[in-house]
Amino acid sequence: MIKKFITNLLAKATGNSPTGGKPSLGKRVDVPVQTHGIDPTLVDDRAANVVRTLQDAGFVAYIVGGAVRDLLLGLRPKDFDVATDATPEQVKSLFRRAFIIGRRFRIVHVVYGRGREQEVIEVSTFRAYLDNAAAEQVAGNEKTSKSELAGMKHAVDSTGRVLRDNVWGPQEEDAVRRDFTINAMYYDPQTQVLVDYHGGIKDAKNKTLKMIGDAGVRYREDPVRIIRAVRFAAKLAPLGFKVDSKTAAPLRKCLPLLADVPQSRLFDEMLKLLQTGHALASIAQLRKLGLERGIYPLLDLVVERADHPFVTTALQDTDRRVGEGKPVAPSFLLACVLWADVRDGWAARQADGQHAHPALQDAIDDVFNARIGDVSGRGKLAADVREIWMMQPRFDKRVGSAPFGLCNKSVFAHRLTLCACAPISVRWTKRWPIGGKSSLPATTPCVKTWSTRCARKISSVHA
Ligand code: ATP
Ligand code: MG
Repeated sequence: MIKKFITNLLAKATGNSPTGGKPSLGKRVDVPVQTHGIDPTLVDDRAANVVRTLQDAGFVAYIVGGAVRDLLLGLRPKDFDVATDATPEQVKSLFRRAFIIGRRFRIVHVVYGRGREQEVIEVSTFRAYLDNAAAEQVAGNEKTSKSELAGMKHAVDSTGRVLRDNVWGPQEEDAVRRDFTINAMYYDPQTQVLVDYHGGIKDAKNKTLKMIGDAGVRYREDPVRIIRAVRFAAKLAPLGFKVDSKTAAPLRKCLPLLADVPQSRLFDEMLKLLQTGHALASIAQLRKLGLERGIYPLLDLVVERADHPFVTTALQDTDRRVGEGKPVAPSFLLACVLWADVRDGWAARQADGQHAHPALQDAIDDVFNARIGDVSGRGKLAADVREIWMMQPRFDKRVGSAPFGLCNKSVFAHRLTLCACAPISVRWTKRWPIGGKSSLPATTPCVKTWSTRCARKISSVHA
């Protein structure tokens, strides 16, 4: 108690209040379809069904967040979130396949379909606005204080970062806790009314990405909002959006706060920057906002290498595939970005007299361990990246049955459909149908290890 009092006192003295004072809850404005013009055909049937089911059970429910933003801008949302006044347990009881997930934020996943057709609608209960100075304070951070956090509903660390946020409240308080004004709107697919508390419609019209409340305080509460600012700036830049100056100003200064965010969360956010169709735009924004270094070591490396033609091509190809609705794999992009390290390590080991195959395996281990930390799905990612790298020497073999063996490998076919390295494989299979018998002509272009030359060809082949 005394510690908390002193912390708050010190924070006030230095002007670094962890809360920045209670923000304005905004004024509710109900906007009719004639004004917002959202096309109801862009609304996902399942999301509408979740809202209807909750409303029929007597709860308040809306589509919320990025989906409303995208609908308003005439974009097809990539996923739909629903917000309601029903508790996670109440939500779960209304759907056949619903799962309560998360500790930091408890939410419900309502699942439709199976396999590749599976769709998840994320349902969150309206959160209360809570004064972080009144929250339980833990000494460490999200990584070091797991046991202490068990059972807490609202907790912050000593910097003001929210570690637990599971207190339910009214809709206007839920709105003020969201990040950007354009992400804080609610849409009822039944009545087609859009509810706006923080001028999201105005900012969408003025093409401004603006943080709700004091941006510095909001980044301190959750430093991942720094990366989200970059992501939305990149996604919306082609529509003419600019980051509001007060939202952009504290970004750089707040970078060190990311040091305490768990690696896996940073890794996931990095993938969202690079794998949602705006990889090149995200890199441009990182540079523009002065964030090209310091978010996450692997991302620093991507930005540093983004102008190498090989990496540029991989990023372009990833953007193109996402744009065409095709799947992308993080293993491909990381394999491309880190290939130079593997290749150099491999060459150095061979120069030291090691045989090619074990030299490549050791080089791969070194690079993976040095560059990719403790991230979720690490095992699968490691296996996939290794598979891609180990396959590279095989592209050098152009005579005999080896190339056909490679074409026949299931992983090759898998790559063909699943990842953006398809350009290399497409070229192979187009010329030499899988199962063919003759040897490849010695003049075969492009069937080389991944090199800058090859990467350039990727774009010409796939243009
Ligand atoms: P995308 O189109 O990439 O899914 P999104 O805005 O929907 O963008 P989500 O991560 O799906 O992003 O989050 C849904 C909504 O939840 C956001 O629009 C925002 O209102 C809220 N939100 C998510 N993360 C945060 C955060 N870190 N701080 C505040 N609000 C957040
Ligand atoms: Mg979303």
